[in-house]
Amino acid sequence: MAGQASYPSPPASLSHHRIEALLSALRRGSGSDSADGSGGGSGGVSGDDGETAVRMPFSGEVLLRLPHTSVAQVAEAARLARAAQKNWAATSIHVRAAALLRWHDAVLARAEELCDVIQAESGKARGHAFEEVADIANTLRYYGLSAEKVLAPRRRHGVFPLLTRTVELRHPYGLIGIISPWNYPLTLAAGDAIPALVAGNAVLHKPDSQTALTTLLIREIALAAGIPAGIWQVVVGDGATVGPAVIDAADHVVFTGSTATGRRVAEQAGRRLVRADLELGGKNAMIVCADARLASAVEGAVRGSFSSAGQLCLSMERIYVHRDIADEFTKRFAAAARRVKLGAGYDYRSEMGSLVNAAQLAKTRNHIDDAVAHGATVLAGGTHRPDLGPYFFEPTVLADVPETAACFDEETFGPVVSVYPVASDEEAIEKANASAYGLNASVYSRSAAHARSVARRLTAGTVNINESYAAAWGSVDSPMGGVKASGVGRRHGAEGLLASTWAQTIAAQRIWPVGEFGPLRGRRYQAFMTASLRALKMLRRR
Ligand code: NAD
Repeated sequence: MAGQASYPSPPASLSHHRIEALLSALRRGSGSDSADGSGGGSGGVSGDDGETAVRMPFSGEVLLRLPHTSVAQVAEAARLARAAQKNWAATSIHVRAAALLRWHDAVLARAEELCDVIQAESGKARGHAFEEVADIANTLRYYGLSAEKVLAPRRRHGVFPLLTRTVELRHPYGLIGIISPWNYPLTLAAGDAIPALVAGNAVLHKPDSQTALTTLLIREIALAAGIPAGIWQVVVGDGATVGPAVIDAADHVVFTGSTATGRRVAEQAGRRLVRADLELGGKNAMIVCADARLASAVEGAVRGSFSSAGQLCLSMERIYVHRDIADEFTKRFAAAARRVKLGAGYDYRSEMGSLVNAAQLAKTRNHIDDAVAHGATVLAGGTHRPDLGPYFFEPTVLADVPETAACFDEETFGPVVSVYPVASDEEAIEKANASAYGLNASVYSRSAAHARSVARRLTAGTVNINESYAAAWGSVDSPMGGVKASGVGRRHGAEGLLASTWAQTIAAQRIWPVGEFGPLRGRRYQAFMTASLRALKMLRRR
């Protein structure tokens, strides 16, 4: 099938010995890799529950055989994590945040190794792998420097000034269950573990089997930087078996993946009255206004649509371009898509890598074939490239996609984008919002003020102006997440950190109780309270 493709050999960081060393963290029983003596390997996997042959998307060759965690072993991993969490939560926030800053340095120092493993497991281009490394360093610095302040006890206004002293405390939930997908194996594995850990939680983590090695590597780096082993337990195996076992054990769930699975996760967590933050799919729209700088819009459309071969939750799958510039934009965009350099390799020579597996290839192909059958035109790409590797597919630009085509409103999650000319920004906004999803959007205009006025009217959790996704995602000080079928809850920012804590209000009353007391009873109490409430409003006291 792969024709005359000559595949790149995996680099030394993926030697048999190195892979076995990383997998050994899964096979170890309790205690052996504990950095703090608190106990806990990574789930104590024996392999009795089967294994997954993980293949490298670049070649289709087997990279490793991943032993599965049994449901009983997930419960044991949860027990070990909870035991280790007590010490970790008792450690000062200053110490926990300092570990994040050391972890930051280690991530940058071991960037090449991380990129090698991300590429081997996901098949993405080197530049897209490094984007994840930079992202995790960004998140580590942000929470390393901000967590102490965000989690500090906070004085709140009491019910009565002077008489009530009220403080809000933040406690870690205990055990956070993280379930992550394969498409951004480093970002989505570590990105949610970082705030959970710095808040004092333990993590029970189920990465997708395709990309478990990346999780094991970033965990190894975290341990070397001072994160105790016991508090980050990794479990692996069939999603429909191990995923529910994680949800059953966790005090709070963070799930990233498809909307269909997200609904199941929400139902199961809901039955246990455990909160689930859900980061789900998208059908993201870019709006190119009549006054947009064409070169910048074309660059943004290429990066936004084809990063990680379009297997990016934030990627653009719909472009609404003002008809005044539609012909010129579409011509230049299609030409730029044709110029994208595809290829396998653990270096920066190619600009786009492979799809991850045969299922992603089939979905991409089906969406294009279906669109063409319904009358769409292929302006660029549209072709499978087995000469480069089994799952390579060209960046594809479609036009004339009718509402009846599946890719009109369904997420493709591949390198396929449809361009639609529109008569006005009004029409673009209406069409962009006419989607079941609401994750990310992008607006290109020379006028930042105009772009902001368009952005505010888009029902999307993030909107990038003169950028496609990286500006909003990379702004880790601000919350990120979806609306509608794109999810519930937010990562990043103070909100993303507070999400792994529960709030406790402690209010101390002195001198006078809040209720009736002494001579202030019945009507007198009512009069006193009425006067007090009026005075508080007059003094504008919150
Ligand atoms: P998926 O839902 O199939 O799998 C995600 C994870 O859930 C995997 O680890 C899987 O093993 C696990 N899982 C499967 N069944 C489960 C179950 N019944 N209970 C619990 N866990 C289960 O998603 P995918 O195809 O791997 O990922 C691609 C999807 O993820 C796309 O829709 C994409 O848009 C979305 N995504 C969203 C974001 C975001 O931040 N919003 C980021 C990346 C990907």
